Amino acid sequence: MKAAALIVAAGRGTRVGGGPKQYRLLGGKPVLRRTVEAFLRHPEIDTVRCVIHPDDASEYAAAVDGFVLLDPVSGGRSRQDSVRMGLESLEGMAPDIVLIHDAARPFVSAAVIDACLKGLDAAEGAIAAMQVHDTLKRGDQQGAIAATIDRTNLWHAQTPQAFRFDAILRAHRSALGHELTDDAAVAERAGLRVVLTPGSHENVKITTIADLVDAESRVSEGQRICRTGIGFDVHRLGPGDRVIICGVEIPHDGALVGHSDADVGLHAITDAVLGAIAAGDIGTHFPPSDHRWRGADSSVFARHAAELVHARGGRIENIDVTIICERPKIGPHRPAMVAKLADIFGLQVECVSVKATTTEGLGFTGRGQGIAAQAATSISFALSS
Ligand code: MG
Repeated sequence: MKAAALIVAAGRGTRVGGGPKQYRLLGGKPVLRRTVEAFLRHPEIDTVRCVIHPDDASEYAAAVDGFVLLDPVSGGRSRQDSVRMGLESLEGMAPDIVLIHDAARPFVSAAVIDACLKGLDAAEGAIAAMQVHDTLKRGDQQGAIAATIDRTNLWHAQTPQAFRFDAILRAHRSALGHELTDDAAVAERAGLRVVLTPGSHENVKITTIADLVDAESRVSEGQRICRTGIGFDVHRLGPGDRVIICGVEIPHDGALVGHSDADVGLHAITDAVLGAIAAGDIGTHFPPSDHRWRGADSSVFARHAAELVHARGGRIENIDVTIICERPKIGPHRPAMVAKLADIFGLQVECVSVKATTTEGLGFTGRGQGIAAQAATSISFALSS
């Protein structure tokens, strides 16, 4: 056993309200789950144990559901007691190194953990810390400034705090009864050399409601939800010498009949896009009764649908269309169709799929009376907080 992580999750977190903060949800995931995950994922951490409050057994079990880690142990009256009890529970496994970490710091990065581990090369302890940049004031009882503190060499202590296991266990046992606010203070009291390693601004401890709100907006940043739309269209074949499918003109011994250019492919796709944003269908926006759309280029309809998506803050992720006919052969025109659709919808060609199938001679498409198309699309939206 080389490195163990001890997550201190026994606090009651009364300042946040609504139950202990380490079990509150952030982006739908308990804070503690995020914290534990950060250590389980780190390649140099061999095992993880949490110290919990005995009343929180069911919340704990739900928070770490599916994770492989040591059974939790119960904490004590103070944080210091809880850490000592956690360390004692690891004694039999004799890890070389232990990283002690607050459950309420879910944004600890691999880089911060790395820095602590590296710091132990030259010391018995290494803690994540941030240099103080603000000017510090000491106030008097009346709230007036009594003194300005020299901020040179001042640091904010964070966690993880990494230690040689035997040394920190001994230090904690000898500090019994002394009220110290972090494990580095316990180590310092025992005369251990503890170095400061780079923490991060993201590695905040969630203490207040405002911290929780900030954390929530951070996790929802970049998260998107996807909506799916489907579309289907049919046009009859009549006299003529070409058809237009997905914006591409194809010589044929007939023409698709319709009010507009009868582009069955673009119509199916346009309906899929409108469907994904629940904005009606192509007929709602471009009624066949409106003479303006007689013989219209259907890319106008498609571009309008794409604009509606953008106006709602959506992003079209992909388009997939299937053209259903015996003839003309779609295959030779597929690259041109993909390029045309990519242009209309502002997509990379990798996100556009044009497929074709026959109906084995069956039905109206089989008899060459018409051409059908079906389409699907995914449209993503930023998850609002
Ligand atoms: Mg149509």
